[in-house]
Amino acid sequence: VPIEWDSEGNIINKEAIGTQLYDELSTGFKLATSKLETVHSVTLDSGSSFRYVVYKAPSSNSSDVRYLQFISRVDAEKQLAENFGRILIICSIGSWILSIFASYYLSQKAMNPVLASWRKQTEFVANASHELRTPLTIIQNKLELLLTKPNDRIIDQMEPIALSLSEIRHLSKMTSDLLLLSRADSNATVLTEEMVDLNRFVTEVIAPYKEIAESKEMTIWTQLDSNRVSKIDPVRIQQLLVILLDNSLKYSQAGDSIGIRTEVKDNYWIVEVRDTGQGIPEENREKVFERFYREEKSRNRETGGTGLGLAIAKWIVDLHKGKIEILNNLPKGTIFRVKIPIK
Ligand code: ADP
Repeated sequence: VPIEWDSEGNIINKEAIGTQLYDELSTGFKLATSKLETVHSVTLDSGSSFRYVVYKAPSSNSSDVRYLQFISRVDAEKQLAENFGRILIICSIGSWILSIFASYYLSQKAMNPVLASWRKQTEFVANASHELRTPLTIIQNKLELLLTKPNDRIIDQMEPIALSLSEIRHLSKMTSDLLLLSRADSNATVLTEEMVDLNRFVTEVIAPYKEIAESKEMTIWTQLDSNRVSKIDPVRIQQLLVILLDNSLKYSQAGDSIGIRTEVKDNYWIVEVRDTGQGIPEENREKVFERFYREEKSRNRETGGTGLGLAIAKWIVDLHKGKIEILNNLPKGTIFRVKIPIK
């Protein structure tokens, strides 16, 4: 029901509009006749909100001016709008905070591998320089010592000369290993695969080691069950086997035995190099594949190791999309098991 106002601002149809609305309007509201026919909002002292529009009522008698006010209570809508606004603010602050955390987390996640490889690289360079410096210092000392004895004959100074030569050999091995690994890092090396008779290939690789083992009073046994021709990179696989055999010989003593076992199972070529040597403790089995990692460094210096062998071995296995793992050889020793997929 529209509310009717007379020109003095009194409500005429009090009965029709209900007492509560009448009370509110008659105490808190003044009709402004200047703003006709547009929608207005008003909040009264009672706290109620309304929207209304006022029209001048058509009247035959011009002295009797009346106004019709169409009014609607909008408390609920206002409350709704306020709640909505509040939710909007909370949500936008929430999503803002969330996006800050998410972007921090994601950037951290994206940066982590970069940082890790950066750290690895600096560590690698630091390790490499350190490892190169030791033999260089030894050679320098020995040569300086020789210079202090200009009248000696070579035969009198065999020891420093032999030691220097051995350090030079070590340096040369290490630089070629480093070169190989740096090529590996730049992905510059690709496999040159060819069809290879697996059993014959392994036999040929092992042959020279039989004599070396004998000279160290060790034995080498083989159990080759991979009688087939498959596609592998013979140069790299030979390098891999040589690294594993070298290690077995280095880290075993007289009386120990070294075994090479191969088989083909579920399209995988499995090669095991087993030894009964000093073994690798469980907790170091991941670490030995890291560059320059060596157990009991001082002792291993005598063996001429560079700490790069197994890192290269792992790289070769990865290149063939294979796996390399270390198992216990019972009662003592190590088993290096390589699994390479073949067709
Ligand atoms: P290194 O040139 O010192 O042999 P590697 O990367 O080949 O370097 O091996 C890393 C370390 O793993 C070695 O220093 C040695 O402590 C350990 N290791 C490797 N192979 C064997 C093995 N067959 N038996 C015992 N320990 C081994």
